[in-house]
Amino acid sequence: MKLSKRLEMVAQCVPIGARLADIGSDHAYLPSYLAMHKRIEFAIAGEVVQGPFESAKTTVDLQCLNQYVDVRLGDGLDVVCLDDKIDTVTICGMGGELITQILERGRLAGVLQNVHTLILQPNMAESHVRKWLMAHQYRVEQEYILKENQKIYEIIVAHASINSVAYTEKEVMFGVYLPLEKSDTFIEKWTNELQKIDDVLGHLEKSSRDTTDKKAYFLRKKQSIEEMIQ
Ligand code: SAM
Repeated sequence: MKLSKRLEMVAQCVPIGARLADIGSDHAYLPSYLAMHKRIEFAIAGEVVQGPFESAKTTVDLQCLNQYVDVRLGDGLDVVCLDDKIDTVTICGMGGELITQILERGRLAGVLQNVHTLILQPNMAESHVRKWLMAHQYRVEQEYILKENQKIYEIIVAHASINSVAYTEKEVMFGVYLPLEKSDTFIEKWTNELQKIDDVLGHLEKSSRDTTDKKAYFLRKKQSIEEMIQ
């Protein structure tokens, strides 16, 4: 089984011997790969949609991994209970808002109590994820940015912290470690973002409505990006 570059990077972030919950586990590729390589003790592959749930079960059955990967149908972290002793959660390939909704419901239900590592790969709205992590005392420990099939992805690895966690507005927006490295992919991501903002500003300029506040918001965002990548 060969993982995509994106999921391979996520797989490398999973602690050896983890008890993992992979939420939104279409095909269960990530937990199956980790189980096959004996990198985890146990995994739950959680899926809310019947079709991907069936695909996940098929992968696990075909690879004879039922002893290590339990495929469960359900919404977010509802598929996890404390007896599962899950210590690591991966949520990949969804928007940042949906990822934080899943985490927040799980937190309120108490199933994050023993989870020390979160590995999150939002397709957008990464700042939403960092805000949630900060609010709930998860410290960002590693960040990666990579490009695959013309798409740019960020991966955020966070650990539960006993101390409060505070990030600046810039760290929330651009990342805690990514700006220190400023890789070509990082520059490309934010250059693309600048282009999108210019397009929006062009539309706002032509609008007959009062767009003063919106323009000010996008101009501030544009300035932050320019300061970051220049
Ligand atoms: N995690 C895989 C990856 O990164 O390649 C699959 C990503 S796929 C784009 C997102 C999956 O998350 C879909 O299969 C979708 O059904 C599932 N999903 C969306 N919301 C969910 C939720 N609340 N609970 C569980 N799964 C969910």
